[in-house]
Amino acid sequence: MIELVVISGKGGTGKTTVVGSFAALAEGAVVADCDVDAANLHILLGGKVVEKAPYRGSETAVIDQEKCTACGACARVCRFNAIGVGEDVYMVDPLSCEGCGACAHVCPGGAIQMEERQSGWIYVSRTPYGTLVHGELLPGEENSGKLVTQVKMRARAIARDEGASLLLIDGSPGIGCPVIASLSGAHAALIVTEPSLSALHDLARVAGVARHFRNRLFLILNKADLSPKLADRIRKEAERDGMVYLGEIPYDEDVTQSQVLEKPVVVHSRGAAATALRRIWERLQKELRA
Ligand code: SF4
Ligand code: SF4
Repeated sequence: MIELVVISGKGGTGKTTVVGSFAALAEGAVVADCDVDAANLHILLGGKVVEKAPYRGSETAVIDQEKCTACGACARVCRFNAIGVGEDVYMVDPLSCEGCGACAHVCPGGAIQMEERQSGWIYVSRTPYGTLVHGELLPGEENSGKLVTQVKMRARAIARDEGASLLLIDGSPGIGCPVIASLSGAHAALIVTEPSLSALHDLARVAGVARHFRNRLFLILNKADLSPKLADRIRKEAERDGMVYLGEIPYDEDVTQSQVLEKPVVVHSRGAAATALRRIWERLQKELRA
């Protein structure tokens, strides 16, 4: 099974458009949406949720009032002001608690326990294009890199059970912890970028992160015709950096229309963007087989 992760140096480059179309063209790939801070592939691919499991990614301090001697050491050590006192009763505000465990460490009476708390959900859906796993963080929760890892582990297990030849991962944007978790263990990374100066800058940064994991690197230029000059510069720099340039997608109103209709553009349209995506998909398959 090949694990391919699609990433972008920044949000809004068309990564989900590409993944949605590849999912439709692949017929039977398992898809993981690891953009857990803003998962939206399930909207594009449709289908039905068949499994919903809680994700526990963080801990909260809990005080046992029977054991507490009201010494105040926990409130003094807490850098997040999460422990308050009223009439000699010390209490943790779960919304402010960051789960660092310092209070439990200093409590002389062993009155504080760290308890797991739910930080989100992991969903499995059956879509017309194959099985999709996606995660959702609850408001205010962090540790999205950990959730990405859990989403990938669930998707890998399903892909093995289904005998899928491709695990297609919609990675997180940027270069932080979630994208590092998206890239880890993947065979190849496909970067979707666009012809703008900020995208050029972000491309270099995300390619550096991907290289660290020794992923094979592919590149697609989205909306390439919006700035032919910058598109040309990105192509040259990418090829010089050892990326395999798979092709470009022109700006096409059908992409927006397909999003409104909640369908991958290759399903909705036979226009310029859909044609380019089909061509790129064929080239990618050849490259992955090689
Ligand atoms: S676990 Fe850390 S953040 Fe939470 S109450 Fe204790 S010291 Fe404060
Ligand atoms: S450190 Fe422990 S004993 Fe002291 S106030 Fe906090 S919970 Fe109570």
